[in-house]
Amino acid sequence: MSASLQEKGSAIRNDVSSAFIRRAVHPLWAMRTHPAYARYLKDFERTQYLHPEELKALQMRRLRQLLVSAFRYVPFYRHRMTRAGVTPLDIQTHEDVKLLPVLTKRDMQDHKDLMVSSEVSPHLREANQTGGSTGSPLQFYVDLERADSRMASTVRHNSWAGLRPGDWHAQLWGSRYDVGDQPDPRPRWRQKWLYRNLVLHTAAVSEAAMAEYVEILRRYRPRHMVAYAQSAAIFAEFCRANAIDDITFDSVIVSAEMLLPGKRQIIEDAFHAKVFNRYGCREVSVIASECEYHTGMHVNADALLVEVEPAPGLPPGMGRVLVTDLLNRSMPLIRYEIGDLASLETGTAACPCGRSLPLIGEIQGRTSDFLELPNGRMIAGPSLALLAADMPDVRQVQFLQAVPTHITMKVVAGSGYNRLTELELRRRMQPYLDNLAVLDIVLTDSIPSEPSGKYRFVKKLDAPLPASIAN
Ligand SMILES: [Zn+2]
Repeated sequence: MSASLQEKGSAIRNDVSSAFIRRAVHPLWAMRTHPAYARYLKDFERTQYLHPEELKALQMRRLRQLLVSAFRYVPFYRHRMTRAGVTPLDIQTHEDVKLLPVLTKRDMQDHKDLMVSSEVSPHLREANQTGGSTGSPLQFYVDLERADSRMASTVRHNSWAGLRPGDWHAQLWGSRYDVGDQPDPRPRWRQKWLYRNLVLHTAAVSEAAMAEYVEILRRYRPRHMVAYAQSAAIFAEFCRANAIDDITFDSVIVSAEMLLPGKRQIIEDAFHAKVFNRYGCREVSVIASECEYHTGMHVNADALLVEVEPAPGLPPGMGRVLVTDLLNRSMPLIRYEIGDLASLETGTAACPCGRSLPLIGEIQGRTSDFLELPNGRMIAGPSLALLAADMPDVRQVQFLQAVPTHITMKVVAGSGYNRLTELELRRRMQPYLDNLAVLDIVLTDSIPSEPSGKYRFVKKLDAPLPASIAN
């Protein structure tokens, strides 16, 4: 049999097993392990098309129920609201929400036990945690029913990119919480017969690892990829550099990291695929994502209330992202400051897809992704991403900062890197630094990802680098 016939045969077998898993295996599994999932999915598929006013009313209804529950059963919120002089009854409109205090990660670390609701019995919740950008883990509880509705939200947002339960998809994902510790490229039975994900670990996106990804993808030919944004871009660049043109997808859903300028095009070109940008976090799951029209990211507004609020000290035109999980009772997150900044400008025109879920302004990065100058000016890390994009002798850069007066730029140099390359880097950095901070350039062999698998373009340090490293 010729190779193309063999491929055709395997594609048909794939379609048949995908349909079987979608129609039989997945629903049966979901019924047993996530009993509320199907109901939520049906509900979310309907509410995404509600009239905008109806959607707002639904949000307020869910918010008021959450606030009443938090006030009654969660000591932390009762205390906070009382101190702020508000009760759940005072919150009647979206404008009133601003009366409620903001919840920080620090609050969660300091008061975790007081934030647990006595309304939800311990066997109806599960513990979860996030690494947090500083590395100190943050623990929280999710209602079992909320885990079901989170899954329903994800399935709905995946469907906008054409990815349905049962479809093979590659998962270029680094979080050990999500994919386990063992980098085993062979799908185990659950992955093969249920999740249908081919896990490609990103903890070390080395050339050898990427060559292995190519082999796995050629074998299974998934039509979709879900990926850390930066890892997807690195893998796309690898395929382009090695003239690998047969790894194609219908869609690439990128998440967990910022999609840096220019990277969307690189990923789309390398994989002949459409990129679907997504924004989410472990604490509340999917926050917003692009639909098939790519007009911006639709907020998961029937499950979350998302605010972008200006605050002192932020760069002009940007606000901090505050999220309220409308459906989680066991440890409510109300106006939770997630640590990201978004543009205050939101999409105004209705999206041609007909969904009323509002569009969020562009995510500008984590607060920790910004370099800070002594005069208080902030430089968005991602805006520096293109700094050396056209310099073939600079393969990778990362900025480290402990104090406003000092910035260290780590550089992975290519073979032609020399004194002139360094001078050029300094020349390009000059307009940003404005003589306010000293720039050290340090050469290094590689810049590893964080333990979470994410790549940080800017890293804030607790203490300055020792002189021996910072030159
Ligand atoms: Zn849309």
